[in-house]
Amino acid sequence: MKTDIKSMTLKELGIFLESLGEKKYRAGQVFSWLSKGVEEFDQMTNLPFSLREKLKESAFIETLTIEKLQTSQKDGTRKYLFGLKSGNAIESVFMKYRHGNTVCISSQAGCRMNCAFCASGALGLAHDLSAAEMLDQVLSIQRDTGEKVNNIVIMGTGEPFDNYDNLCRFLEIIHEKEGLNMGLRSVTVSTCGLIPQMEQFARDYPQVNLAVSLHAPNDAIRDTLMPVNRSYPMNELLTACRRHTEKTGRRITFEYALIQGINDGEVHAKELAKRLSGMLCHVNLIPLNVVEGGSFSGVERKVAERFLAVLESKGIQATIRRELGSDIGGACGQLRLSLKS
Ligand code: SF4
Repeated sequence: MKTDIKSMTLKELGIFLESLGEKKYRAGQVFSWLSKGVEEFDQMTNLPFSLREKLKESAFIETLTIEKLQTSQKDGTRKYLFGLKSGNAIESVFMKYRHGNTVCISSQAGCRMNCAFCASGALGLAHDLSAAEMLDQVLSIQRDTGEKVNNIVIMGTGEPFDNYDNLCRFLEIIHEKEGLNMGLRSVTVSTCGLIPQMEQFARDYPQVNLAVSLHAPNDAIRDTLMPVNRSYPMNELLTACRRHTEKTGRRITFEYALIQGINDGEVHAKELAKRLSGMLCHVNLIPLNVVEGGSFSGVERKVAERFLAVLESKGIQATIRRELGSDIGGACGQLRLSLKS
């Protein structure tokens, strides 16, 4: 079986090339080509012919195919459907912000967290994405847009902490100088609240931003929306979040999708504010109006503004998410609610 060379860290690549009888310094050259998004070993023109032949025999370069692309006429947001070799498909989104280009990538094909509002979770987990499959979402988008990606948000389909080892491998690869040389502070990982992995992650990658999908002010509501809450209820989750900010010194973002009649009232805003009081955090309110057919409805802008005003009056920092790509349903998987109008 051929080796997935694009999922290797620079160090692993060095060991692999040595096992092929090659000098270790070649690893930097190969790694750099892979991070540029080449699809064939023959494109690695500064490698000797003999090495390219050895690589062809023993390894393969993972490359995703763009199956569908939607571009927002409003703001240029681009939503990609990528085909995987397994036959599954994943989504990624390219968004332009004032602070740079951001790509939201998927970490799994499907998801087993089964959140009630989520289209991705409805069919369960197909498989974890390899580091190469995560990386190639970024590289394919750079290739397609001709633009550099400045920030990466791992908030598409899947629960990143349920694919922890490949997530870490991906972070190592993008951080490498010979690769994308991406600062870890430019990366955000979003979780539904897997506490043990959150704690491990704070030790492993304290520079990476953490976003937690909260979506409820209490256990009663969160239990109905997110089954994970039955294993890791809110008190424990928020305690873990406090520990996380203490350890990393970094502000946590709480994602809160406003769902009509479920979690969008003034009473919910007050309860949320009370629970988050004193925390180093920011609440990202998502007044989704995406329509996909489902059992939940989004809220109007004025409802989101009322909710925001309550949080702010209680001293909680919050914003209403700018709706990029709203004409193409450009929100990411964790936020890709199946809402009806
Ligand atoms: S919201 Fe996120 S964690 Fe929940 S089922 Fe969807 S992809 Fe999985």
